[in-house]
Amino acid sequence: MSDLKPLSIDSLFSANGLLAEAFDKFVERDAQLQMAKAIEKAIEKAESICIEAGTGTGKTFAYLVPALLAAYHNGKKIIVSTGTKNLQDQLYFRDLPNIAEALSINKQKALLKGRNNYLCLYRMAQNLDSGRFQSRSMADTLIKVNHWSKKTVSGDLTQCPELKDNDPLWGYVTSTNDNCLGADCPDYADCYLVKARQKAMEADLVVVNHHLLLADMVLKEDGFGELLPQADMMIVDEAHQLAAIAHSFYGRRLTSRQINELCRDTELEAMTTAKDDRQLSVAVRRVEGAVNEIRIQLGDTGQKINWLQLHSNIREKMFAELLREVKALSRRLDMQATRSKGLDSCHRRSMEILQSLMMFGDQELAPELAQESVRWVETYRTGFAVIETPLDVAEAFEQSRLEQGADTWVFTSATMTQSKKFEHFKSLLGLDASKELMLDSPFDYQNQSLLYVPRGLPDPRNATYIETWFERIYPLIEINQGGTFLLFTSYFALNKVRDLIEDKLKVSSQETASNLLLIQGEKPKNELIELFREAGNGILLATSSFWEGVDVKGMALSLVVIDKLPFSAPDEPLVEARIQSMRKQGKNPFYELQIPEAITALQQGSGRLIRDQEDKGVLVLCDPRIVANPYGKAFLNSLPDLPRTRDQKTVLKFLQSLTD
Ligand code: SF4
Repeated sequence: MSDLKPLSIDSLFSANGLLAEAFDKFVERDAQLQMAKAIEKAIEKAESICIEAGTGTGKTFAYLVPALLAAYHNGKKIIVSTGTKNLQDQLYFRDLPNIAEALSINKQKALLKGRNNYLCLYRMAQNLDSGRFQSRSMADTLIKVNHWSKKTVSGDLTQCPELKDNDPLWGYVTSTNDNCLGADCPDYADCYLVKARQKAMEADLVVVNHHLLLADMVLKEDGFGELLPQADMMIVDEAHQLAAIAHSFYGRRLTSRQINELCRDTELEAMTTAKDDRQLSVAVRRVEGAVNEIRIQLGDTGQKINWLQLHSNIREKMFAELLREVKALSRRLDMQATRSKGLDSCHRRSMEILQSLMMFGDQELAPELAQESVRWVETYRTGFAVIETPLDVAEAFEQSRLEQGADTWVFTSATMTQSKKFEHFKSLLGLDASKELMLDSPFDYQNQSLLYVPRGLPDPRNATYIETWFERIYPLIEINQGGTFLLFTSYFALNKVRDLIEDKLKVSSQETASNLLLIQGEKPKNELIELFREAGNGILLATSSFWEGVDVKGMALSLVVIDKLPFSAPDEPLVEARIQSMRKQGKNPFYELQIPEAITALQQGSGRLIRDQEDKGVLVLCDPRIVANPYGKAFLNSLPDLPRTRDQKTVLKFLQSLTD
């Protein structure tokens, strides 16, 4: 290990420093250096800091280098939290080992994911024994997973090539908080999850995701135990996602899946240890029936219905019926609980579900959440969830941070400010006292890009809006030799444009007709992005989750079209309740909540266009409100400094020039 004492952040990040020596593509970047130095100072002074670092700053290096130095020189324990499992893998398997090697720092590192990523040996064995599957292919996949389990060291199922992201088998080979037997499990000594958690507890630097970080913070606060080691420093990357995720952790939730899994596990356990109790099976069937009745009555999937607006028949009668049936099952399980650890665990789970149902069913019994809250029901393809969350998580998060006890907190993202202010981000998480740093992207947007707002489009509420903007931008798609990415704010608009494009492609020139048309939902997200990247001139249509995390460089993505300003639906229960609450407090929810959140979403969406110094392309914002309404300025001022035009000819010329 080299003596790093004399090496300053300045020298490490310089053009002939250790990083430049180790990484071919490393270029000295002022913003990256500033960020690393700000983090070094925050560690020294035990402070919290919010850092917005524009795309291309190289923020991963900027936080990992000072973090590794602090671990090496001062024995600091560090937790890095990021938004997705993909980013976790990228950090842990690529960036972290490469940087540690470049600096010759050999500290213990660990990767920890949520429990639903690890193979559960107990449940796999139970399901292998039972032989009860929905299809032959599930049974085949289970056998392949069993083979893979003999070779894996981590038990991380995301690395198992046989198990696809959306395979229904996931639920059969992973555990949940509810069904894990913990120390009573016969496979405890070999359990992958237990091993991963032990490794994380001993490591100097642990890579987690926001769900796990919040689960740990909330658990610690409740005094139930801990998932992560006591850290001196917390680095939260993709920090703009944190507040939204925090809402679900400071509230409560009951899903039909939890209840159905209890039924399935009860059946599995009963098959081996309580075959003689036929009443147990009857009780299980009745609970499943009551869940199913509610699901049918709730109707379409993808709905979010305020609890108070639910049909009284569902809210008062059907949930009461479900409660009665779960109570009956729980009584039955109580009688059998001593026959096996598994049945004992099922009994405990039935009691917990009963308690949740009683709380949701009866406001009087619900323990007060710390803040004003809202309750709603969500419907999915296979079930539903009842959710209650506080309207404001700032105070609870601040309290959790105190409990967690880290000296230094770094919150970073490419999108944290609106009109260059951190106010909204800080207020959501109670970070008023945190320091701030804003670093512009090093990209030359003036020469690399163009922002086009088409002239003369109607208001988005106009019935002809979608057809009109589509006709206006279609010539851009035709002339673009690279990939086109259309980002929508609704499935309705996506489907309409899909039909319009398909019609156009049928009658258009051979060249345009050869463009590969890719639609969200037709394949898993990663697969679609890979196909789009490989196509080079594909047309990708997507909503929601694709506004973030799509990283396609070069001509494969040279045109981004955004249909509307991404305001959240005002009738979405949490948004609606927050709007009402702000109004009561005399605040203006449009300016203090809806605009800031829409700006962050727009920053994310438009950030898909320019991904490196060589990238070039056009961003189209179809929504005329961005220029016609006074608040449009707040959006424009929050985007990088792209040259703007309203002239289609200029855009066509620019797109043509990309391949000249
Ligand atoms: S301890 Fe829990 S996760 Fe581990 S094998 Fe047992 S049931 Fe599965």
